Amino acid sequence: MCDECGKEVQKPTVMILDGVFGGYCHTCVAKARRDASPQSAQYHRDRDREEHQRDMLQPWVNGKVNPEFVRQYPDQAKQQFTEEELKEV
Ligand SMILES: [Zn+2]
Repeated sequence: MCDECGKEVQKPTVMILDGVFGGYCHTCVAKARRDASPQSAQYHRDRDREEHQRDMLQPWVNGKVNPEFVRQYPDQAKQQFTEEELKEV
């Protein structure tokens, strides 16, 4: 059980949260990490934007392999493109 919110968790993360040592669920751990970040608001806005941009990445640009896509998604790129196409990147 999570010591913070009381939710049942199979494998609570053991850590110090708000100065209290205990086992916590992912939600509370994630929240604590977010709150701990000093420039949190700006930082998360920037990160959200980055992640959004990454979501927008297309494998193809103007009929050519998008190098940015290959860089961000090497595994998917291997499935998406042939080796010949990847060589051109
Ligand atoms: Zn919790």
